[in-house]
Amino acid sequence: MLSHENNASVDYDVVLIGAGIMSATLAVFLKELQPDLEIAIFERLDRVAAESSDAWNNAGTGHSALCELNYTPQQEDGSIDISKALKIIESFEVSKQFWSYLVGHGYFSSPKSFINSIPHMSFVWGKEDVDYLRKRHEALQTSHLFKGMEFSDQTEILASWMPLVMQHRTESEKIAATRIELGTDVNFGELTRSLFNHLKEGHEIEVFLNHEVKSLEQDEMRHWFVKVEDETNDINKTVRAKFVFIGAGGGALRLLEKSDIQEGEGFGGFPVSGQWLVCKNETLIAQHHAKVYGKAKVGAPPMSVPHLDTRIIDGKKELLFGPFAGFSTKFLKQGSFFDLAFSLTPHNILPMLSAGIHNLPLTKYLIEQVMLSFEDKIEALREFIPNATESDWELAVAGQRVQVIKKDEEEGGVLEFGTEVIASADGTLAALLGASPGASTSVSIMLELLHKCFKDQMASEAWTAKLNEMIPSYGKHLADDPELTHRVRKWTHEVLQLNHINIL
Ligand SMILES: Cc1cc2nc3c(=O)[nH]c(=O)nc-3n(C[C@H](O)[C@H](O)[C@H](O)COP(=O)(O)OP(=O)(O)OC[C@H]3O[C@@H](n4cnc5c(N)ncnc54)[C@H](O)[C@@H]3O)c2cc1C
Repeated sequence: MLSHENNASVDYDVVLIGAGIMSATLAVFLKELQPDLEIAIFERLDRVAAESSDAWNNAGTGHSALCELNYTPQQEDGSIDISKALKIIESFEVSKQFWSYLVGHGYFSSPKSFINSIPHMSFVWGKEDVDYLRKRHEALQTSHLFKGMEFSDQTEILASWMPLVMQHRTESEKIAATRIELGTDVNFGELTRSLFNHLKEGHEIEVFLNHEVKSLEQDEMRHWFVKVEDETNDINKTVRAKFVFIGAGGGALRLLEKSDIQEGEGFGGFPVSGQWLVCKNETLIAQHHAKVYGKAKVGAPPMSVPHLDTRIIDGKKELLFGPFAGFSTKFLKQGSFFDLAFSLTPHNILPMLSAGIHNLPLTKYLIEQVMLSFEDKIEALREFIPNATESDWELAVAGQRVQVIKKDEEEGGVLEFGTEVIASADGTLAALLGASPGASTSVSIMLELLHKCFKDQMASEAWTAKLNEMIPSYGKHLADDPELTHRVRKWTHEVLQLNHINIL
């Protein structure tokens, strides 16, 4: 793969479809690992990072399981399983190392343009959930990765952590929270734009905007013919590439189906839309400084637990509550209402129906969410800010997530909430489906893709040495190595200008 024999017959070594955080991360990896690769990116919109990766379309949480309770489920025996939490926090530490390396190599004017320290908090009410949170805190304290997380059910302490949330509450309410300074808010849109700008300025890649990929087909030489519509000039063209990444977000499923690779059969997609309440009152925005996650209601998809978030978007502090989940048949925010219907194929119709039947609580939850009026949404916000008033808030539409539906021997089809890298057996094509935990783990996801599709190169001394330089914990488990964790956190927090109080 990707040897330069036969180069005359291809236009590019690599074609990346879609200009979101995933394609940007893969482009940077490939150029750092093999600078002579010729890479083109085709994006259907008129700018990069305009779909899920845009800051207003996602929650900007640097997912590390510091506040998201869905990564620490309670077992039947009452104990807390922290295995998922360890995986997520390790992945985010990998992302921080990759971004720190890029800061040192001039990719950003300042790390503050895309990443900022914001304390992460979990907030619960009612005896059962308070007991759960206490146990969760104890369980996480067994790992050095969560050092510095505090638990409290004391009104005064909670009021100092989140004054806005604690105002107008009665002493008798049973509530508790955890707080950790290690948390971050990430502007994934700005991050994506910076990566593309740096590569473009160095003439290292070609980015074609307003170019929609319509289909792709492989020839007997294992090259991919990618058919593209140039919407500005209203012409169709075909480019030939040795490797294709379908990083088209919600558009990936349709293109994977069109590629006809066997590995892509049986996958379906279930779209979940979202809305935020955005605060317009500067006094309230100034009073809050944390990402405060609650606990999911029965049937709620794990990524749709509403949270009250301080965000730093384009240098300005904002306050958002949500996302409220909803249902739309579109697979992209700027997609078509026919997306869901067009994604149905003879291979995925049964898995899709079966997943629908097995997920009735989710369907019920989404219907309830869609029915919520603006007033109902403000009422939900009052669980976090008891005296919230309608005039301080307005609604904004978030990005679209397409959850993966997978063929399953026993159940026919299962709905998954993670991401899935699907690669052809010959390693010439890969696609990314799903959206959670998403952008935070883009670096680990792209490493997984490189291992699947560039096996020989990834085993080579040259690539291994470069990967170790970019990510000092590459190939190691931070959860097993407090000394290495200390070293990489010291480095990343200094370079990224993040808090390092109580965490090292
Ligand atoms: C409401 C919400 C909240 C989220 N919160 C978080 C969070 O807090 N933390 C986190 O880490 N992640 C979060 N995510 C997930 C995260 O946003 C995504 O995982 C990530 O942005 C996906 O990046 P991507 O590059 O795969 O897709 P995208 O950013 O969607 O990019 C795909 C691109 O492909 C283009 N495209 C599509 N079809 C074609 C075609 N045929 N031809 C050419 N171009 C095409 C699209 O226009 C788009 O620009 C959230 C997502 C949503 C929707």
